Amino acid sequence: MLRLVSRQTVALKKNLPASFQSSRLASTLALLETTADGKLDPSSLNLLQAAKLLNNPITALLVGPNASKGAQNLKDSVKCEELSKIAIVKDESLAHYLPENISPLLVELLKDDTFSHFVISSSSTGKNILPRLAALINNQPICDIIKIEGPNKFIRPIYAGNALATIETAQEKKLLSVRASAFDSIEEGKSEDVEIVEIPFTNKDNVPIKWLSANLTKTGRPDLGSAKTIVSGGRAFKDKESFEKYLTPLADVLNAGIGATRAAVDNGLCDNSLQIGQTGKIVAPNLYIAVGLSGAVQHLAGMKDSGTIVAINNDPDAPIFKTATFGLEGDALDIVPELTEKIKATQK
Ligand SMILES: Cc1cc2nc3c(=O)[nH]c(=O)nc-3n(C[C@H](O)[C@H](O)[C@H](O)COP(=O)(O)OP(=O)(O)OC[C@H]3O[C@@H](n4cnc5c(N)ncnc54)[C@H](O)[C@@H]3O)c2cc1C
Repeated sequence: MLRLVSRQTVALKKNLPASFQSSRLASTLALLETTADGKLDPSSLNLLQAAKLLNNPITALLVGPNASKGAQNLKDSVKCEELSKIAIVKDESLAHYLPENISPLLVELLKDDTFSHFVISSSSTGKNILPRLAALINNQPICDIIKIEGPNKFIRPIYAGNALATIETAQEKKLLSVRASAFDSIEEGKSEDVEIVEIPFTNKDNVPIKWLSANLTKTGRPDLGSAKTIVSGGRAFKDKESFEKYLTPLADVLNAGIGATRAAVDNGLCDNSLQIGQTGKIVAPNLYIAVGLSGAVQHLAGMKDSGTIVAINNDPDAPIFKTATFGLEGDALDIVPELTEKIKATQK
């Protein structure tokens, strides 16, 4: 059995308020995602902040051939006193977060009974891994949490974000996925004293799945999950050409990501990787510009936590105006080019 017990555990526990003292030896294992070149995925920085709120010493786990690079980046870029250890598992078969390959490793690590919490981002990676892990250890995961009320108590949205459920668990191990956009990014700085420990991957000869290739759409735009600004289009556009003709220049001047409603995707206006909402991506940029979309609850579920929401719609009764910070009533085909030119003029 692999033991990653932190020496800081007992010392830290003494300083905690009673409501946060869950068990004799509590600590958190956090699976952080990295990009192919070993940079930390932005969602991992929010995940670390959420892990910090559990008030336990944290062991960050990084996997794949770039794990050492990721671990060094973590030490050099993040200030987190709760971070007690960085565990790396460098095997190639873990490179793409294939749940079939990673879950047995997590099962092994979580046999360490000091781990009271396991956290992962509720990204597609987290959504793939957590249920499989939970089934393997016969545990009920708590998914997509947006608030931590204590070591055993969490809040998560239900019914497409129309209600919030407060969940208290008596399970010894808490398996949690965290909605990254609901937490701040961890403080920047350094964590120089944190030890990096390499763990051998004993299961390497038994991995059930092999990664062959990926076919990715390259846009050169900010990723929707981390974009500070998003311009999003709906069914108002009649075809793919007009969706691109109107939205791309606006997104360009704002260095924004482009999103869409499900109706836009279903009508073939754009790729389904752009879909925002209940069954698409969950985003919370500083600025969200909703163009020609009605504001259905399923769409709001994916963007209503954005900082400032600007809605452009020709129907004064469109529900999106109830959620928007600013509303522009009129034809998007007139407003968007004018807005684009006006923003451009301010940049000269
Ligand atoms: C289980 C389930 C899951 C779903 N998941 C999602 C999801 O993840 N994401 C999502 O987005 N939807 C999702 N939906 C679909 C959702 O219910 C809506 O159908 C969809 O969001 C509507 O997209 P829309 O706003 O583009 O289209 P519409 O509702 O048709 O709205 C188009 C808007 O454009 C305006 N408009 C038209 N022409 C112009 C113009 N020239 N200028 C300005 N405004 C104009 C209209 O006034 C209207 O308000 C889901 C539905 C179900 C049942």
